[in-house]
Amino acid sequence: MLKIGSHVSFSKKGLLNAVNEAVSYGSTSFMIYTGAPQNTRRKPMEEQFVEEGKEVMAEHGIKMEDIVVHAPYIINLASFKKQTFRLAVDFLQDEIERTDYLGVKNIVLHPGSYTEKDPQYGIKRIAEGLNEVLHKGQQTNIALETMAGKGTEVGRSFEELAAIIDKVEQNDRLTVCFDTCHTHDAGYDIINRFDEVMEAFDRIIGLDRLAVFHINDSKNSRSAAKDRHAPVGSGYIGYEALNRIVHHQVAKGKPIILETPWIGKEKANQRPMYEAEIAVLRGRVAERFGESFVEDVDKLDHFFQKRDIDKRDYILHTWELLKDKRKKKEDKREPMDRLFDLVVEHQVLPGLTEEAINQRLIGWFAS
Ligand code: ZN
Ligand code: FE
Ligand code: FE
Repeated sequence: MLKIGSHVSFSKKGLLNAVNEAVSYGSTSFMIYTGAPQNTRRKPMEEQFVEEGKEVMAEHGIKMEDIVVHAPYIINLASFKKQTFRLAVDFLQDEIERTDYLGVKNIVLHPGSYTEKDPQYGIKRIAEGLNEVLHKGQQTNIALETMAGKGTEVGRSFEELAAIIDKVEQNDRLTVCFDTCHTHDAGYDIINRFDEVMEAFDRIIGLDRLAVFHINDSKNSRSAAKDRHAPVGSGYIGYEALNRIVHHQVAKGKPIILETPWIGKEKANQRPMYEAEIAVLRGRVAERFGESFVEDVDKLDHFFQKRDIDKRDYILHTWELLKDKRKKKEDKREPMDRLFDLVVEHQVLPGLTEEAINQRLIGWFAS
């Protein structure tokens, strides 16, 4: 069975909150930040409903080792500034203690950004930080995430990750989180040549270090170095490629985590597509949503066929349009917004909520 889930909220009742949200999407894994990703304020773990959360996890057969913690992205181990580096090391240390307390096996970390320096400096500095952090005999592995190469990010190639790992003494606790949006944006052809990408990964880093997958579609074409996630099937990578990766032997038994954006016209009403994304990637849409969902997807298919809308062409063409600043000013709606508007305008699925229509669009992308 796939260990698949999404980023969920650890606020209010901590682990209990997180697992309940995960279960509501039909997840068998999930990922949390132990507090706000953009700051270092943290509640003591004793107040995070860990026992209560564990009970619900057990009821649903989710093991601690199947879930993932993500370190806050303000941690920058590549910084040349003494204070920023110090804070990064100390805070990562605290985060590892919290992760260890939970019994979670992997904490995902963005390696860092070299800012005014250069990649070589960044690699050395990150290794220096990791050497310090890994000194205190804990259990948790640090999963370095493959990065898109936005700005001065380190980790945009397997070579950069391998160089960091090489420079760390206790590197048996270093693993890797493979993010599909990031690797695609960094230039890897995961759409047509995933096997070759994995061969390169094995040669340069070693497949034994591959521990976590982040499954996200991308709002940009390959090599764009942008890092903007899209719901599964609605971006440049597409459902077919993402589905192939999820079911590939390299992903077997590993946590597969969605970090896709929430969708909706108004910010306040946006909803995650996780439940639908998980169902299509599992191939369990009818079981999750009922036969009527499949019929609705059929209706969408007929409707779009009549209008000569091919899903992949339409999605790719719309993203291309949006790169033209003038055209974007005229109409800034993304592919899913435009498809949603068509469906509503022509009353293809009358009586359904915005969320339900968008979930069926996810179903259509996968059909
Ligand atoms: Zn990340
Ligand atoms: Fe990620
Ligand atoms: Fe990202």
